[in-house]
Amino acid sequence: MSSYTAYIQPNLGRKTLHVVRYAQTERLLISAGRVTGVQYLRHGHHFKAEASKEVILCAGSIGTPLLLFKSGIGPANMLLKAGISPTLNLPAVGTNLQDHHGPILPPLYVNPGVAITPSNFTATEFDKFLNHARDSVASTVRMSTQGFFLSSSVSGSDWPDIHLRQRYVCAVDAPPNQICFDVVAGRPQFSLELAGTLTLNTSAYLSGERDNVKLAIIDPKVLESKRVFRILRESKAKGGNTETIRSTVN
Ligand SMILES: Cc1cc2nc3c(=O)[nH]c(=O)nc-3n(C[C@H](O)[C@H](O)[C@H](O)COP(=O)(O)OP(=O)(O)OC[C@H]3O[C@@H](n4cnc5c(N)ncnc54)[C@H](O)[C@@H]3O)c2cc1C
Repeated sequence: MSSYTAYIQPNLGRKTLHVVRYAQTERLLISAGRVTGVQYLRHGHHFKAEASKEVILCAGSIGTPLLLFKSGIGPANMLLKAGISPTLNLPAVGTNLQDHHGPILPPLYVNPGVAITPSNFTATEFDKFLNHARDSVASTVRMSTQGFFLSSSVSGSDWPDIHLRQRYVCAVDAPPNQICFDVVAGRPQFSLELAGTLTLNTSAYLSGERDNVKLAIIDPKVLESKRVFRILRESKAKGGNTETIRSTVN
């Protein structure tokens, strides 16, 4: 099941839905300060799709800011360096790239003979699951046990800031009694502290490059926040503790 088969395919008959396949949006069409449509490339030809009401941009966390940059929306100084004339100076575009980093704890073992993973969960089975999604395990997160804990930086609150998660996939080709966990800084403000940046490779753009993979400069700023780093380090000690795991599993 993909998002296409779940949401698009059943609605293909709708008069209000028109799907254009093999199309790459190149830029937004902007007129009098309003986005009025998109220009897209299909089989080497440029086309325009005009909007009668509004344009909703959903090209993902990398594609969306890049499309805005290419359309002149973003930090004006960066756009000028790329030879793009700024339509709207929005310095925040590309500055809130978020991910949830989860350092993996060393594996733990339950009693020999007790199976946590099926004995056939091998790398071949996992590959079958990823690439064919049939005749194989149903989920990579099966039996995913989760726990929430307080680090020492929390005072006077019972709102946990550490998220402990069982990782199923780290058990590929491992003994069936192996169990793995990772820790994530689990409060919304951590995501902001962990926010990375996405900027445009201005010299590549100037020299004519249009491939997003080559145009995106991604700095995830992994663990640059000292506070988050401290909490994750503490979480590692806490999460690697058998008692913590036991209370999570129970
Ligand atoms: C490894 C991983 C694991 C995740 N696990 C989970 C999870 O367990 N639970 C959860 O809720 N979320 C999870 N997420 C997050 C989730 O996948 C995203 O939040 C979600 O897919 C975002 O949806 P979207 O439609 O905004 O963007 P996307 O799904 O990224 O879709 C954007 C689409 O736009 C297309 N596109 C980009 N540029 C252009 C262009 N110029 N022209 C035409 N098309 C373009 C792309 O090809 C893509 O198909 C995970 C993400 C990753 C990477």
